[in-house]
Amino acid sequence: MNHELTHRALRSGEYWRQIPGFSKVGADEFETHQFQQRATVTSVAQLRLVLGELVGERFYEDLASGIQNAPMALRISPHLLSLIDWETPEIDPIRSQFLPLRSTQQPDHPMLQLDSLAERQDSPVPGLTHRYPDKALFLPVDTCPVYCRFCTRSYAVGSDTERVGEKLKLHASQTRWDQAFAYIESKPGLEDVVISGGDSYNLRPDHLEAIGRRLLEIPHVRRIRFATKGLCVMPQKVLSDARWTDALTRVVELGRRLHKTAVVHTHFNSPNEIVESTRRAMDLLVERGITVRCQTVLQSGVNSHPAQMQLLVKRLGYINIQPYYVYFHDMVPGVEDLRTSLAEGVEVEKRVRGTTAGFHTPAFVVDTMGGGGKRDGHSFEYYDRTHGIAVFTSPSVKPGQWFVYFDPLWGLDPGVRERWQRPEERRAMVAAAIRNAGGEGSAGWQALPGAGELAGVPG
Ligand SMILES: *Cc1c(COP(=O)(O)O)cnc(C)c1O
Ligand code: SF4
Repeated sequence: MNHELTHRALRSGEYWRQIPGFSKVGADEFETHQFQQRATVTSVAQLRLVLGELVGERFYEDLASGIQNAPMALRISPHLLSLIDWETPEIDPIRSQFLPLRSTQQPDHPMLQLDSLAERQDSPVPGLTHRYPDKALFLPVDTCPVYCRFCTRSYAVGSDTERVGEKLKLHASQTRWDQAFAYIESKPGLEDVVISGGDSYNLRPDHLEAIGRRLLEIPHVRRIRFATKGLCVMPQKVLSDARWTDALTRVVELGRRLHKTAVVHTHFNSPNEIVESTRRAMDLLVERGITVRCQTVLQSGVNSHPAQMQLLVKRLGYINIQPYYVYFHDMVPGVEDLRTSLAEGVEVEKRVRGTTAGFHTPAFVVDTMGGGGKRDGHSFEYYDRTHGIAVFTSPSVKPGQWFVYFDPLWGLDPGVRERWQRPEERRAMVAAAIRNAGGEGSAGWQALPGAGELAGVPG
């Protein structure tokens, strides 16, 4: 096929039959959410049963050891497992997002901390983050149909792990939800509510509908979005779980009657995640008039090559999903190997812009640590490439403060990496970057990660 049209070549057929554990499963069974949920793999022992000798003993050992060092528990659907190229799992972009291998992990960046976005600081009610003037983030549940090892909300999402014990628990609870609704009702400036989690796929249909209705009926709420990775993890559900899809449709239709918008935000990272069954699920949502946008995480080896990102963006557009954001990878534990430098992302953005419609061209944003919110990757006040420090301001969200983003150390010169290991050198490098950005005597950056360690250093 013509190279320009590769994005239309969607994988079809019974791609799961190559997996020993699924080789006897027919389409009528595999293409249902019941099977996808029942056969979801949540342990190395289960994975062994499914994959058998498709991979060697070394792989299982590497994985078991990787999981011990990961902030997220293991959870992957048969659909995604079957889309991995098991000939070369070490470099497969789907494997690298959901199955951590010890051999590829890198030491964490010394400035890293859990809940790097400080979402709990801006939480008036547990599970509700109100950081921006007119929009809020509501987390009704803390489970997902899959666990991404790079999840930013590893402080809350999924079960406790050795690495992150005692997570914040955000179970589905009417009392907690009522508190969130009451808060939103009390803030007339709030026009936009993101319903995330966790994942809206894991909301029961009656809960999804009740939450949607309750929010749309608040007069000042004009826009709601249901966030779900479901279309990527098990698109089959949209087609086979009519109760869920119909509940979503009713909320969207209610929105339309009230002259408001209710949409879906989803999450694809690799073009390999979009196949024929994804297109069929999207076709149904398009017929129902449901707008779907995508938020992608920029990841080394998954989509950090311009050709990978171009293909992802074109493929999303082809099946009617609007690429909305590409996030520079948040600083979360255990995933340093997936992060890229700011420079790399800025370069990818340059190559994507111009390949398709402007409204299908995602903005590349950094969600700054310490709660400065999302910033366009190009809008840094100062960027020290040698030491891998970018400095941002966020005048509409946290005026007068300075926010930083750090490139992964593995891409820096050995001498610089060595400096990062020493606390006094770290302080000096960060202070110099903020001074170079124009930050004289600013207190704001004490809200930064590792603030304890940085406290007392004049900006
Ligand atoms: C990302 C985010 C939102 C939504 O922001 P948009 O830029 O409109 O997509 C709202 N609240 C919080 C806390 C967020 O992190
Ligand atoms: S689907 Fe989203 S919230 Fe759930 S684990 Fe993945 S990144 Fe985290």
